[in-house]
Amino acid sequence: MGQKSKKYVYFFGSGKADGRAEMKNLLGGKGANIAEMTNLAIPVPPGFTITTEVCTLYYKNKKRYPKELKKQVDTAMKKVEKIIGRKFGDPDNPLLVSVRSGARSSMPGMMETVLNIGMTTRTIPTLIRKTGNARFVYDAYRRLLMMYSDVVMEKAAGIETQEGEGIRQKLEHAMDRLKVDRGYQSDTDLTVEDLKKLCDKFKVIIKDTLKKEFPDDHEKQLWGGIGAVFQSWMGKRAVSYRKIEKIPEDWGTAVNVQSMVFGNTGYNSATGVAFTRNPATGEDMFYGEWLPNAQGEDVVAGIRTPNPVNKKGKTEDTKHIPSLEESMPKIYKQLYGIQKNLERHYKDMQDIEFTIEDGRLWMLQTRVGKRNGPAAIRMAVEMAKSKLITKEMAVQRIKPEQIDELLHPSVDPDAEKKAVELAKGLPAGPGGAIGKVVFTADDAEAWAKRGEQVILVRNETSPEDVHGMHAAEAILTAKGGMTSHAALVARGWGKCCIVGCSDIKIDISKKEIQVNGRILKEGNWITMNGTKGRVYEGKLKLLPADPEHNKWYKELMKWADQIRTLKVRTNADTPHDSTLARKFGAEGIGLCRTEHMFFGPDRIKAVREMILSDTLEGRKNALLNILPMQKGDFIGIFKAMHGLPVTIRLLDPPLHEFLPHTDDELNELAGEMGVPFEKLKSKNESLHEFNPMLGHRGCRLGVTFPEIYEMQAQAIMEAACELAKKKVKVIPEIMVPLVGHVKELEAIKNVVVSIAERVQRDYKVRVNYTVGTMIELPRACVTSDEIATIADFYSFGTNDLTQTVYGLSRDDSGRFLPYYVENGILKDDPFITIDTKGVGAFMKIAIEQGRKVKKNLKLGICGEHGGDPKSVEFCHKIGLDYVSCSPFRVPIARFAAAQAKLKEKTKKRK
Ligand code: PEP
Ligand code: MG
Repeated sequence: MGQKSKKYVYFFGSGKADGRAEMKNLLGGKGANIAEMTNLAIPVPPGFTITTEVCTLYYKNKKRYPKELKKQVDTAMKKVEKIIGRKFGDPDNPLLVSVRSGARSSMPGMMETVLNIGMTTRTIPTLIRKTGNARFVYDAYRRLLMMYSDVVMEKAAGIETQEGEGIRQKLEHAMDRLKVDRGYQSDTDLTVEDLKKLCDKFKVIIKDTLKKEFPDDHEKQLWGGIGAVFQSWMGKRAVSYRKIEKIPEDWGTAVNVQSMVFGNTGYNSATGVAFTRNPATGEDMFYGEWLPNAQGEDVVAGIRTPNPVNKKGKTEDTKHIPSLEESMPKIYKQLYGIQKNLERHYKDMQDIEFTIEDGRLWMLQTRVGKRNGPAAIRMAVEMAKSKLITKEMAVQRIKPEQIDELLHPSVDPDAEKKAVELAKGLPAGPGGAIGKVVFTADDAEAWAKRGEQVILVRNETSPEDVHGMHAAEAILTAKGGMTSHAALVARGWGKCCIVGCSDIKIDISKKEIQVNGRILKEGNWITMNGTKGRVYEGKLKLLPADPEHNKWYKELMKWADQIRTLKVRTNADTPHDSTLARKFGAEGIGLCRTEHMFFGPDRIKAVREMILSDTLEGRKNALLNILPMQKGDFIGIFKAMHGLPVTIRLLDPPLHEFLPHTDDELNELAGEMGVPFEKLKSKNESLHEFNPMLGHRGCRLGVTFPEIYEMQAQAIMEAACELAKKKVKVIPEIMVPLVGHVKELEAIKNVVVSIAERVQRDYKVRVNYTVGTMIELPRACVTSDEIATIADFYSFGTNDLTQTVYGLSRDDSGRFLPYYVENGILKDDPFITIDTKGVGAFMKIAIEQGRKVKKNLKLGICGEHGGDPKSVEFCHKIGLDYVSCSPFRVPIARFAAAQAKLKEKTKKRK
């Protein structure tokens, strides 16, 4: 006696629930929200949730349940029976239940659901008698047979099938054949007799295919369903979705067992899925789809094209179909009130599922709705403006990647006007995309892996397709509505997507599409406009994204800028990129790589001449040719960035990167330089290095060939002085790469300063210039107290620092790092997200020691990590002044910096 047994089952029903919304970890998203709705007195069919803990225990204990579970389930079932007034398995008064999965965060369609559990040869006659609707009962039974055999008897049993060969497809095929034989258009044309026969046929097919009888026992069905949900947590689809979404394996799924309500008992019944705001645009309107006389899966699976819930949601294609608002105005009003209430309660857009059974409304689910980036931004801003949430909450709510979506291309309207439209569908995911047609998810993945741009074209997608959907540029489906699987998943990822494109007829065996009299084959190019739902043949021009004209985005970024304290600069080495980055909100240049300027066709020869000269004079002459060109580059960049700091890095890469690769090129150069070919060849070979990344590069070039940096310093300062005289505000920051010893920096700084002083004297103008260093070697970090005495600023070169701290080659690690990440050895690729423990520790040492010597030492980062949200957060935490990243990442970094600040504030409050 004594110890109370652990609670594994949480009941909900009749206005009272054991759980609440905050218990997502234990009850899963669905279970927690059903409990919350119940507590809010919203009509929810009674039921119970088996906790995620049971899932974890199930896998820990060789797929055995805790021993208390059975008793707790029985007790909860009794409570449900009491509320409903029916008994599970009772031949005279049977209760039917659904069994659904529910993880902590929604994984649309990734796991399993079985409806209508409890239908057996003993309960069916009573159900017919009670409902007076034999057609409905047999329709429900055939659904149970389909789902159960598919989910429990095939998938959960680990039976792998070829595409199109699964039990579900076999049963669907039998049903389609019957419809064709009878000349029916729709499932609803099937008569009682048809369905009865179909159910018998289904049982035979199930027995033949799976070598097992469908269980004619309510308890077996229930536990089969529960087991299948837990099994599905480790199913292929769920595992691959979790990997993409980075959902930890040990979260587990809950199981929700709930009394059935039916949307398919006749035309006074219906089912639907809706959003409290438009998930594709973010517009504040109740938006959704419904089907009369149908069960939930019909709406989501795209088997029938659903109707809009209200008049406002009608489009050209659906204007003739009655909305729920028109067909059942009273219920619509109730539903409208509930959805408003739910959005107000949860303070976020909700994705809801409802069923109307014989004129009575039931809510089956509410959850935070998936949305694409532009919609997320609009909603957050409008909710903050209407005071539903605070501005800070709005900023916290957007994922930095959702900002990225806004920066994506669209189809050029001019090209679109002239293009021949192939087909029209529903605009499920905005933006434009071009790609080659492929028909299976595996092909999409394989083609993308070899560098092809592909568009995945399917009749409808299923969770088995997620890996291919992820790899594709865009997704096009022939069936399905705005709440279909494809739409939901694409929207979550911000991917261009068109669904319900009924103009296309896919012949998967021939790998071709027939569309309005044309044939498209695998590998043909198409263009999609996901904003309008239009498909075109061939490759149309795509326009870069235009966030500047999106008022919600601008407002949100304004709020983010007010919040953040970390500055954001850009890595740019052309005036064009500088201007672009400035438009994206860059507050200066954090890294201008001057070597990129050396590769121009007009200057590479002079560069090669300089490298291959044996004499100082020869090198100086060649450099004199490069000087005006470098100066011109800097003038362009300074102008584009007027008023903002520009960090220019002196030459960094090993010299041989600039050398000729072929004898022809060498020959030509030898002629121009008046040097024998053989001599030049041998010089060329002598510059070869075994380990160039650790060789004669960076400041080591400047130390041994000071004339190179002299020329660069002169070009920078002449450009700056010339513009300063014209009253253009220039703030040059001259940066020395790959410093490992203070003496290196000291020697170079002396050279740079003497040139800078001379040029200023010549131009009779003063420029506010500084000389600093990259910190990209471990030795620089740990001797930062010495280096900081010379440097005016630091910029962490975390590409090289990761390479050197980790001993990982930047250029070769791509061969094995993806394996490390996929197999959980590393959580993230350290060249994408800063390894805070290792590389980060060196950064902290450098900062601490540096600021001890120079309190106001300016600190930035210009490695690739400067545009990665997680790394930006780290940079904020360790006290950098700015991050610098490529122009397109600037808005993301600005945003991530604001979120980092908010996170810090929340922590402090706690
Ligand atoms: C770095 O090493 O992080 C850096 C910015 O320099 P580069 O990538 O040019 O070596
Ligand atoms: Mg570097």
